[in-house]
Amino acid sequence: MLDNKRILLIVSGGIAAYKSLELIRRLRERDCRVRCILTRAGGRFVTPLSLAALSEDRVYQDLFSLTDESEMGHIRLSREADLVVVAPATADILAKMSHGLADDLATTALLATDKPVLVAPGMNVEMWNAAATRRNVERLRRDGVRFVGPDSGDLACGEVGVGRMAEAADIVAAIATVLDVAGGPATPMRGLRALVTAGATREPIDPVRYISNRSSGRQGYAIARALSRLGARTTLVTGATALEAPRDVHVVQVETAADMLAACAAALPVDVAVCAAAVGDWRVANRTEIKIKKADRAPALDLVENPDILAALSGRGGDRPRLVIGFAAETDDLIANATAKLRRKGCDWVIANDVSGGAVFGEDENRVHVITDGGAEAWPRLGKDEVAERIAARVAAHLDEAQAAE
Ligand code: C5P
Repeated sequence: MLDNKRILLIVSGGIAAYKSLELIRRLRERDCRVRCILTRAGGRFVTPLSLAALSEDRVYQDLFSLTDESEMGHIRLSREADLVVVAPATADILAKMSHGLADDLATTALLATDKPVLVAPGMNVEMWNAAATRRNVERLRRDGVRFVGPDSGDLACGEVGVGRMAEAADIVAAIATVLDVAGGPATPMRGLRALVTAGATREPIDPVRYISNRSSGRQGYAIARALSRLGARTTLVTGATALEAPRDVHVVQVETAADMLAACAAALPVDVAVCAAAVGDWRVANRTEIKIKKADRAPALDLVENPDILAALSGRGGDRPRLVIGFAAETDDLIANATAKLRRKGCDWVIANDVSGGAVFGEDENRVHVITDGGAEAWPRLGKDEVAERIAARVAAHLDEAQAAE
């Protein structure tokens, strides 16, 4: 599947650069053509000679080298590849990429390329968790850059945590996923439609006050992005969030649960619906059209139950999505409660979060269990983007199998 694929491998300056040698070897075994750019800092960790020997090609290092430019200009270098891979990707190169800086051969080629880019970050856990790196990674994902890893474990600096560059075998697998046989990005959901709900609903009390919740919307937005990246025509029905609208996704902004239900119904038919929104359980029946005066007696709110969007989508007749997925945030008896929710709502899968520690809302990471009719599967602690990618990949595989069985 990787035969004759052309990989432009950028090796930047991290201790994990030695693993890139193994990566080149594995890619060559699969008959990939590998051409390397070694950054100045990368050259402190591995030598051009090792890269050249393993890739059986010359190694490019200098943007301003006349020989390099006359033999192979940086534009050609970036275009004559099917995929650009940055491994290891340091915090520094991620920062440069996210800002579009181009001050050396590697960053210039990255800015000039018209091909998919896959990065394998490798750095210290604190650098990976630093607010600036989080922002850069988030922005790069939005720009369509794909990530593999980092893994968690012992780090070269002696600390333990997330930051280890993915193993060569995993990077090869990610390369194979990004490149389908035709050489373009893998889009197994092309021709399919997806609906995702996300964010918090707001239930007005009067024209200036409302009841809402702490949902950040991040997990739902990440799922919409991941489904869209796999080729699904995706509608994101979103309540309040502070997030930027994902590219290539049809975004419908709503306020209340009733609006959200109406927007979801309008988006049907779809193949898959993922309900990640934190929908308010109640709305105010006695909301007023004029602002309630503070001088008045403290008002009593008359709350009535909101429609359950997940249950409504699961219970639709002819236009029920082929796959309906809900979320469950549980503080105790996670599996039992989530399984009961699966039955009660009539959906096909429930993604259950353990929120007993209080941390999930607005966080970057999530530890989830996937509950289906077949039982419960525990996933490791992962970034919300990675949870989203795994869910999207699982959805694509399921719909494909279901199609084949029909
Ligand atoms: O019942 P609970 O709120 O715990 O269920 C959570 C799941 O149900 C989530 O998938 C959420 O998006 C969905 N939900 C909904 N409409 C509601 C309440 C919850 O779609 N009114």
